[in-house]
Amino acid sequence: MGGDDPIKQVEHYAHALKAPRIRASAARLADQARESGWSHEEYLAAVLSREVSARESSGAQTRIRSAGFPTRKSLEEFNFDHQPALGRETIAHLGTGAFLTQARNVVLLGPPGTGKTHLAIGLGIKAAQHGHRVAFATAVDWVTRLSTAHTAGRLQAELTRLRRYGLIIVDEVGYIPFEQDAANLFFQQVSSRYEHASLILTSNLPFARWGDVFGDQVVAAAMIDRIVHHAEVLTLKGASYRLKDTGVDTLPSARAENTAQ
Ligand code: ADP
Ligand code: MG
Repeated sequence: MGGDDPIKQVEHYAHALKAPRIRASAARLADQARESGWSHEEYLAAVLSREVSARESSGAQTRIRSAGFPTRKSLEEFNFDHQPALGRETIAHLGTGAFLTQARNVVLLGPPGTGKTHLAIGLGIKAAQHGHRVAFATAVDWVTRLSTAHTAGRLQAELTRLRRYGLIIVDEVGYIPFEQDAANLFFQQVSSRYEHASLILTSNLPFARWGDVFGDQVVAAAMIDRIVHHAEVLTLKGASYRLKDTGVDTLPSARAENTAQ
């Protein structure tokens, strides 16, 4: 138990508490405390804060790693000059994570290459840093997961489990149209989260064309109604960032009548 040396005792207790940062910082901070004349309370707070901040950042790293992002993108890397219509403040505000505590949604619409996935990932990383569990997948992947659960007779259990995620990101709604069954599963996911937990959706199609994606105007309308009731709908515009320096200015799919621009 470390004899009479108090720092040995602290190390022993820190080990028992599985608090390695307390163990690592207790002696060093004690020297600093003596030099700087900290009170006992100040010293204790400094030691505990080392452990807490290390745990918070490793929790965030774990949440980011398990979110299933296809790549890492940050809001800080986003070039707002390329999206002048998009308010920098709007994105900064979303980055604070306030929308998550209110179970609000974010919908990112716009042609290919305008940064929808980038912003969705950037917001997802912020959410993870703010302590929310995050899961990212394409619309097609979500439908596959939900169908698997449905077939196994555990759709409700799966929807309940997913509600514990503060943020679900559904990328690429509309790239591939859904079968009727898939559309119904997707609708159930949206209903299950409505006013409970947030969604971020991205789509290259305007809402008016979601009926075609879901094969049913009524289901699409009911779903859009729930999604946008408490949501920020952001429309990205312009040419693909991927083509920025290539001399190609517009892709065929980016013509106005086909996309959410
Ligand atoms: P979308 O999902 O709308 O098709 P992405 O988000 O995948 O587009 O963007 C395509 C590529 O261009 C990505 O590498 C992304 O990081 C980059 N990109 C797009 N818009 C911007 C921007 N405004 N600033 C910085 N990078 C951008
Ligand atoms: Mg994308």
